Amino acid sequence: MKPNLDIFPEEIRPYIIPEPKGELYYKCLGCDAEYSIEKLLYVCPECNQVLLIHDRHEDRLKNISGATWQKIFDCRKMLKIPALKGIYRYHEFIGPSIPLSSILYLGEGHTPMVEANPLLQDSVGVKFYYKNDGQNPSASFKDRGMASALSSIKYLIDQKLVSDVIAVCASTGDTSAAAALYASYLGPLVKSAVLLPHKKVTSAQLAQPLGSGAKVFEIPGVFDDCMKVVEHLSGKYPVVLLNSKNAWRILGQESYSYEIAQDFDWDMGGKVVIVPIGNAGNISAVMNGFLKFHRAGIINRLPKIIGVQSEHADPVYKYYLEPDEEKREFVPVDTRPSVAQAAMIGDPVSMPRVVKIAGEYNRVSGQQNVFVVQVKEQDIMDWQLQANQNGHITCTQGGECLAGLVSARAQGIVTGDETAILDATAHAIKFSGFQDMYFKKELPESYGIQPDDAFINLPDLISPDDPDLIPSQEKRLGKSDFTRFVDDVSGKIAKRLDL
Ligand SMILES: *Cc1c(COP(=O)(O)O)cnc(C)c1O
Ligand SMILES: [Zn+2]
Repeated sequence: MKPNLDIFPEEIRPYIIPEPKGELYYKCLGCDAEYSIEKLLYVCPECNQVLLIHDRHEDRLKNISGATWQKIFDCRKMLKIPALKGIYRYHEFIGPSIPLSSILYLGEGHTPMVEANPLLQDSVGVKFYYKNDGQNPSASFKDRGMASALSSIKYLIDQKLVSDVIAVCASTGDTSAAAALYASYLGPLVKSAVLLPHKKVTSAQLAQPLGSGAKVFEIPGVFDDCMKVVEHLSGKYPVVLLNSKNAWRILGQESYSYEIAQDFDWDMGGKVVIVPIGNAGNISAVMNGFLKFHRAGIINRLPKIIGVQSEHADPVYKYYLEPDEEKREFVPVDTRPSVAQAAMIGDPVSMPRVVKIAGEYNRVSGQQNVFVVQVKEQDIMDWQLQANQNGHITCTQGGECLAGLVSARAQGIVTGDETAILDATAHAIKFSGFQDMYFKKELPESYGIQPDDAFINLPDLISPDDPDLIPSQEKRLGKSDFTRFVDDVSGKIAKRLDL
């Protein structure tokens, strides 16, 4: 069905449906070498550093004014073309060379921005919103990057540049769930295999790739060990790597920033965007996204960026503790058990991206505008529970963001007149195991968390005292017994609720 463009202002009609444009290429962060995107590439063949994707003709985007871009994106919101309903609403900034016919859309992106209630905002002392990236198809933000990565693979397949793709990734749980989901949509052209650290992902996260039909391998050790195996595999065999080493993942995740800009009507003044840091792909993408919109004049301020790390997995925080840029030195850490398990990474793959992009972000801002704070495991868990007991659906990593906001506020990094946007990176139900252990006071000591009775919530079994009044599927109660059962149980509940 051809969309009716007559309803849009005449001057933007030609831009509503994007045509493939631009020339994308990989650029090495180590030696600046450039490579064609028609090859499957994850690190520089020359110096082994990670890559980022650039658009050789990015300057053409400036031929359209920032105000016009804003209108284009606002109008695109009304379209009913699936390829433009997700992250590719921002096609010119996400993957301009990908034709709409190669775009994979499974319902990702445009996740809700939910303002915290007055009670919660009061206890934090800052106005803030959660952006619920757990409301993506596989229930985490990783779907943004996978939609981009798998669209780029579909494009290579459509162009007959690759065939019989085997996609692999290592994961703290959510990358594999997203990879398996998107790959299975392209089956049988794409098959996926995921490597998980044994017993270091939640049962929901293990069920997801199994359910999508991926080949699932569990490896002893932690994520960083899995990652090394996957890197070895992708260096030696013809497989597609879907970890955030894959620069397409970063491109797709930039959509998070574009959506925030659009949701706040392009006004980024006084805004603070807070994300957890694990492999550091997401914070790289979020900063890069805002920088691109800023260069194109779509936003005229860069929001403050705060990355948050647990005290049990804090290599990026430690790196930035050294104030002198020249003296900073990255040292991987050995992780300890963390309830923010999806971010429990001691040697982040995207560290070179963070260093480079954060440097540029601060330069363009004309002042320090990127901060990294460290939080305690106790605070991650307590703030997650407090958020969710006030109407949110945040995972432990989202709890980490809120703990980070509280810490940043206390340190004066965030002031009372600013507005924070917190990334609820996954849905709470993926991480309900941690909530369960907290409530049952069964969290192993190594987490360093003391459950607070104020948050604990356990089910209360209400049963009649008379065993003859207990109904079962096998033995249904007679009419009068059933009336007595209902009476008895309602009476007990009413008493518990002080009715
Ligand atoms: C992957 C993930 C993170 C960490 O993101 P990075 O890009 O690895 O820094 C945080 N939270 C959740 C829920 C994740 O799945
Ligand atoms: Zn290089």
